[in-house]
Amino acid sequence: MAKSQELHIFFFPLMAPGHLIPMINLANLFALHGAKTTILTTPKCTSLIQNQINRFHLSGHSINLLVLSSSGKGNESNENLTSPELSTCFLKAMDNLHKPFNQALKEHQPNCVVTDMYLPWTQEIASQNKIPRLLFHTMGYFALCVIETLDNHATNGCVNVDQDEIVTVHGLPHLLQMKKSQLHDSVFTRKKFSEFVESVTESELRSHGAIVNTFYELESQYADHRKKIGRKSWHVGPLSLVNLPSPSQRNCHERMRIMTWLDSKQLNSVLYICFGSLSHPTKIQLEEIAHGLENANHHFIWVMRATEEDVQEKETLTEQGKGLVIKGWAPQAEILSHSSIGGFMTHCGWNSVLESITRGVPMLTWPMFAEQFYNEKLVIDVLGVGVKVGVQEWGMREEEKEVIGREMVERGVRRVMDEGEEKQRLGERVNSMKEKARRAVEKGGSSCVEMERLMQEICAWRS
Ligand code: UDP
Repeated sequence: MAKSQELHIFFFPLMAPGHLIPMINLANLFALHGAKTTILTTPKCTSLIQNQINRFHLSGHSINLLVLSSSGKGNESNENLTSPELSTCFLKAMDNLHKPFNQALKEHQPNCVVTDMYLPWTQEIASQNKIPRLLFHTMGYFALCVIETLDNHATNGCVNVDQDEIVTVHGLPHLLQMKKSQLHDSVFTRKKFSEFVESVTESELRSHGAIVNTFYELESQYADHRKKIGRKSWHVGPLSLVNLPSPSQRNCHERMRIMTWLDSKQLNSVLYICFGSLSHPTKIQLEEIAHGLENANHHFIWVMRATEEDVQEKETLTEQGKGLVIKGWAPQAEILSHSSIGGFMTHCGWNSVLESITRGVPMLTWPMFAEQFYNEKLVIDVLGVGVKVGVQEWGMREEEKEVIGREMVERGVRRVMDEGEEKQRLGERVNSMKEKARRAVEKGGSSCVEMERLMQEICAWRS
């Protein structure tokens, strides 16, 4: 420990909630293990990050902040990443940070730099400065294995699609079958995004290894598979158990309103609905969800990022007291920890999946894009801790997809929330996984041991 106290580690997150939140948790974990930690940020994101970091100064763990000033227009701020369509422009804006990143490494000479998987260019700059770089994966082993296997199939021209449009993924611990429509286009056509994914893979191969936000017991066969194919990584999660409050905690009045409402409900009786920080279901889809919820007749708490007009309509629909609508940002990790929550209708973002599992909440899955359909596979087919709504189409534009009707919504909600054998089975499995997650981060647990190993390795790189 004495040696590691002298370590100085840089963390460079992508400025989007699904990447930023786990990266700050990771920096906190390193601080808890005695390292000096510095998070790199941009002028626009500074206040958001600072609010969270302040809590750790209070608890005695030091996390510093270093502001990189770019020559660009500030588009690398997460405020601009309000929809998945903007992600290419957003990733491009990060390019403005090459110079200041290089400058920061030269000036401070950290012992190691941990950068987001979507910042592959940081590898070259780190290696020019002779500073070991670790890549931070914001998805789990299962999704990583599926993406890499499909990429290999595509490169070798052997993505087999049968007459029912089913794609079979060979070579993984489970035989996976998915509809062609549920996969990213780039699996079948060489598009710009797939080139980007390749640059991510290449940067990982050239890095000192990767940190993965997961725990061994959750996806052991896939952790082993990645090791077998020669990828060096450390699984130190679930990082949400490092216990960082979500940014919404700044808004105490809203938090009290939510918690008081939840306190008034019975054990496992409320469905939590949130589609992450980027997804926007269409107005028609929101209507169908609202009707499905009404017909299923369970309490719900629904986070909306729709227009004000939409939200008002839904508030009218829910005024009988069955539901609570949250406009904007919700304290998700805290809501999921509440004992009245009995299910989570989720878009299957990796952080949401982990937060649901670590709180023992079964999922009703509604994947939309990115690696969310692979996460759904893990949740439903491998772990058995959820039920699917039945989404068939991968895509960033919700308006181009078929609307999921109210009957499907109602059926899904009932399966997860109605008392009975299915709810009990789901509850048992997810609670057993919740226990394993808790043990993984405790002293002697798989993630804790892995973190200690990682600290030792970083120390060894220095000497
Ligand atoms: N989140 C939150 N409140 C919200 C929406 C999201 O606290 O209203 C948090 C959520 O707890 C998770 C992250 O934002 O930690 C979203 O990450 P995820 O991977 O689930 O989805 P993404 O937003 O990246 O699609």
